[in-house]
Amino acid sequence: MNEGWDERINVVQCSDLVNSFIITTQRYVILVDTLISPETASELFNFARPKLTDGRSLIAINTHADWDHCWGNQLFAGVWPVIHIPILGTRLTAERLRSDAEKKTLAEMQIAQPGVFDKVTLIPPTITFEHDLSIDGGDLTLKLFSTPGHQPDHISIFIPEISLLLAGDAAEFPFPFAHSAQTLPDLRTSLTRMLALNPAYTLYCHAPVASGSKILQENVTYFDQLEARCREAIAQGIPGKPAEDADVVKLIDYPLDKAVPPLQWESYPPFYTNGHAAQIRLMLEWVAANPR
Ligand SMILES: [Zn+2]
Repeated sequence: MNEGWDERINVVQCSDLVNSFIITTQRYVILVDTLISPETASELFNFARPKLTDGRSLIAINTHADWDHCWGNQLFAGVWPVIHIPILGTRLTAERLRSDAEKKTLAEMQIAQPGVFDKVTLIPPTITFEHDLSIDGGDLTLKLFSTPGHQPDHISIFIPEISLLLAGDAAEFPFPFAHSAQTLPDLRTSLTRMLALNPAYTLYCHAPVASGSKILQENVTYFDQLEARCREAIAQGIPGKPAEDADVVKLIDYPLDKAVPPLQWESYPPFYTNGHAAQIRLMLEWVAANPR
């Protein structure tokens, strides 16, 4: 799919779950993320295959180690790969994909959704880097840079020749998810860093493709206002760690439709109403630990 941005950038949507990207440069065809399973990665590969002309070779990038971004890796580097290609990711992404925590996540999701993840094996990136990396595709340059906060291993990608940003999960509609109270400042710094690039186009893994760069500013504003609300609440005696069964949205009187732009025809799905409550808890905890 391409809706008006540079024709070398294609979005591949995995239902309404996640977006991956195919970038066609003079030298390389680059898959940004490998979706959720070998089956979905195979679909992605089928979209990319016709672009492998004029001597171009295929490479893949993992933006981070969350399941919906890299559980298709085995198609390209597993025991029985369909095609051997380099998979680039940070050292931390590789460490996460080797960790017991991710093995546990896979086992739990295989039980929770039979048939969807049965064939998944966790395959780390085959070429790792620390923070930043540049890929010279000939006509386009991919600048991979660290944008932690959502997850510590997260990277985003900027393509200066066409001023296009692939934010990954570091920005999202209606808001991105911080990993913990301690990583909230990282998430907000990453948003500011992406905003400072002033991208003409921004594409996200979890936002409508036509959203544009304005989401970056909206995400910054979301956390700024959330911090202000939580500082007020803490000043009024609300605890930094409310009881588990407490309705934190009511506690700080900040429902989701006040915090983010309202949807036109529908309400936000439970994933985001619950997610908003989770971000409030993280912010209360962070503000309580960081008084002015
Ligand atoms: Zn993620």
